[in-house]
Amino acid sequence: MEKKFLEGLNQLLQAPKKIVVLPHRNPDGDALGSTLAWMHFLQAKGHQAVVISPNEYPYFLDWLPGQGQIIKFNQKTELALQHIEAADLIFTLDFNDLSRVEEMEAEVKAASAVKIMIDHHENPSDYATLMYSKPGMSSTCEMVYDLIAALDATAFNPEIANCLYTGIMTDTGSFRFPSTTSATHKAIAALIDAGAKGSDIHQQIYDTAHFSRIQLLGLTLSKIHKIEGTPVVYMYLTQEELNRFNYQKGDTEGFVNYGLNLEGIVFSAIMIENQREGKIKMSFRSQGAFSVNEFAKTYFSGGGHHNAAGGMSLTSMEDTIKRFEQAVLENKAKFE
Ligand code: 5GP
Ligand code: MN
Repeated sequence: MEKKFLEGLNQLLQAPKKIVVLPHRNPDGDALGSTLAWMHFLQAKGHQAVVISPNEYPYFLDWLPGQGQIIKFNQKTELALQHIEAADLIFTLDFNDLSRVEEMEAEVKAASAVKIMIDHHENPSDYATLMYSKPGMSSTCEMVYDLIAALDATAFNPEIANCLYTGIMTDTGSFRFPSTTSATHKAIAALIDAGAKGSDIHQQIYDTAHFSRIQLLGLTLSKIHKIEGTPVVYMYLTQEELNRFNYQKGDTEGFVNYGLNLEGIVFSAIMIENQREGKIKMSFRSQGAFSVNEFAKTYFSGGGHHNAAGGMSLTSMEDTIKRFEQAVLENKAKFE
């Protein structure tokens, strides 16, 4: 970790501050785990800290220590705005461009608070006064682990440990993606010693599915399509299909990964219609050299990591699929 960042942060945290901690919209395990862990740490150090999420999060995360304190911007806008306007510091975790908080973007931009970014995505924007950006890291949770270890290693407690374990586990695909290093495992070992219950967390995240999830998974996989002459597959779900199986937020999390289980497939995509928001959310996963970060940026106004990225489309499902197929064919040489 950069000395400059640590010194700057230490200085900002010397006296008690009013602090807002933000995850990205549709927060995942890493976004919620890291923001909640950081909130617990700040509160223990005598600061007033709140996590404000732009919107709701999946049901399999609704047990995380401290999640009951989260203010959802879309539900309690007035209260959230009061906190944002009064804040001395705003920490943005697990994202690197203010557009990722969507409905909160203008207010966060306008806030007088000092902004501090902690994140592991590529190509960070420069809205923050202090930046701890490390794209090679497995997860923002691993970065927060390193940060707390550097600031005060005695501060780890079971709440922080369970939050950080969760985000490291979800962002590494349970410790299997190439971003998982010996340092990741050492952090996990220390978190277990500090009270993280690995087996319980695994069960909470992966074994609490609703019926709708399993049925939607069956439907999605039954329609998986390989693009002829390429090592690319895609899946999709329309709003009608989601409604038919009584979709709940979080149900489709991780579906995109199944495409990579196929022998020889190096790029898997899923397109999921959201009629209320008038868009199709796209998720991309790759194995090896093909950069889905570049692909998402170039074709679908998105981004993320080299092997895991997302984007969106504002046209119909039919047109989105057509444009996706075309984009893949334009990149055919990269798969050979
Ligand atoms: P997911 O497919 O799970 O939604 O996201 C995969 C990765 O890409 C995550 O790290 C996520 O933060 C990032 N990501 C997802 N959607 C977008 C997007 O629309 N824009 C950008 N810049 N990143 C995204
Ligand atoms: Mn992350």
